[in-house]
Amino acid sequence: MSYAVGWSRKHKRWIGYGVDCACEHPECSKEVDRGMGCLCTKCRLAFCGDHLYANYKCLQCDEGLEPFTPKPEPLHWLQHVRTDETWAKCRAESKNMQQLEAWERAAQAAKQG
Ligand SMILES: [Zn+2]
Ligand SMILES: [Zn+2]
Repeated sequence: MSYAVGWSRKHKRWIGYGVDCACEHPECSKEVDRGMGCLCTKCRLAFCGDHLYANYKCLQCDEGLEPFTPKPEPLHWLQHVRTDETWAKCRAESKNMQQLEAWERAAQAAKQG
């Protein structure tokens, strides 16, 4: 079974290689996805190759520090969820749609600085 998009109970958001997002390092905005290849095995956040070590731990977890604060969901991803056909069923069930709206507001706010 593929794992394009799933739900992370830990972070209450979507994960999987079908989810595009920015590296969670605060000073990095490289595009990554939330597939297994980009996830820290401890904090379960996604990082680019520069910020995820070969042991699949991020800088913070590798040093036993507090994990980074997850970034807001990227707007383009939220728009995809809103408009893409593959999400029609999910939208009809209004699953996580309130959460989606909250994310959109957070993403807008982050964009405006
Ligand atoms: Zn980590
Ligand atoms: Zn990075």
